[in-house]
Amino acid sequence: MDLYEYQGKQFFARFGIPVSPGEAVTTVDDAVAAAERIGYPVVVKAQVQVGGRGKAGGIKLANDADEVRTHAGNILGMDIKGHTVETVWIELASDIAEEYYASFTLDRSAKKHLGMLSAQGGVEIEAVAAEDPDAIAKVHVDPVDGLTEDRARAWVAAAKLNPEATEGAVDILLKLYTAYVEGDADLVEINPLILKPTGEVHALDAKVTLDGNSAFRHPDYAEYEATQVRDEREELAHEKGLQYVGLDGFVGVIANGAGLAMSTVDIVNQVGGEPANFLDIGGGASAEVMAGALEVITNDPKVRSIFINIFGGITKGEEVANGIVTALGRVQIDVPIVIRLDGTNADLGREILEPHLSDKLQMQPTMTEAAEAAVAAAGK
Ligand code: GDP
Ligand code: MN
Repeated sequence: MDLYEYQGKQFFARFGIPVSPGEAVTTVDDAVAAAERIGYPVVVKAQVQVGGRGKAGGIKLANDADEVRTHAGNILGMDIKGHTVETVWIELASDIAEEYYASFTLDRSAKKHLGMLSAQGGVEIEAVAAEDPDAIAKVHVDPVDGLTEDRARAWVAAAKLNPEATEGAVDILLKLYTAYVEGDADLVEINPLILKPTGEVHALDAKVTLDGNSAFRHPDYAEYEATQVRDEREELAHEKGLQYVGLDGFVGVIANGAGLAMSTVDIVNQVGGEPANFLDIGGGASAEVMAGALEVITNDPKVRSIFINIFGGITKGEEVANGIVTALGRVQIDVPIVIRLDGTNADLGREILEPHLSDKLQMQPTMTEAAEAAVAAAGK
């Protein structure tokens, strides 16, 4: 679950990380009212979950109410890389002496947390990594040991920040690590982390991704959940209790089991198609679940064919086949369907499906052949 900058800053503030005072608003009048309360100059910041807002014109300094009115008016409704700005964050402007970068994320291969710190902040870290990788100081933190103050200090020294920033940076990095661990985040990033002319260190931007699976430990995350922009297709799938992830292609995919569903997405790609989604209908394949899956998939206008890939395990082939037949009777489907049915009692299942086959409903013996047939049937 990705947070907006203003939510990320509220999240940081809870762990004592210094951020600028501000207010999130959705109208120009409220933007002006907020600025009057905060005091000038303020920065008007577009709230979209995409980087590079500054370059896109989504971040503007305002010295008085008129400027807030102009900038908020321009930024609200603006399209930034396909994201429409519905909220702006008005915050007290900061004086900047230097811009740094700091983040924590999980390094799965090292089985440790990875902290990255650089004296080159304010620009995309990928660009720094490409042009001057030595400018990024990395630390691997064993989750059992945690981040000690001594290590944080050595890390800051390795990143060659201005010595004036050392104390503030060490303090923020320790708090950022705590926020990352206790907040169950997958990513916490401050870019830029700034040194002010007065010597204070401060988070000027916030990018936070929380692990949605930890929501049960954090009742307050419901507030973040409520503002998530969901894919319409995912919304419908969610209502039906299906494990669905929307993708951009044209072959609708239905499979039982997350592993098989991922393999199905892979094989569609491999044979030259583009999957429209990932959809795992779980262990069973009742008519109910199958009909729900077909509804979700056919609701996507980009879908030009459907690949149903079922491997019967505990659920027997004949149950799967009956589920498919019943579901097809319930849902109106205009695109061709290709079925691959294998596993326990696959023969019985195929016998049940046989009389229903047509040019719109075909069956293929293997996963690869079925994928190829589904891509061909899509007519692209
Ligand atoms: P991003 O472009 O989406 O990463 O948005 P940021 O919040 O990181 O802002 C981009 C840039 O705008 C920063 O790197 C700063 O240079 C500048 N900026 C943002 N807020 C302020 C501020 O309060 N004062 C000043 N002087 N510059 C700011
Ligand atoms: Mn930024």
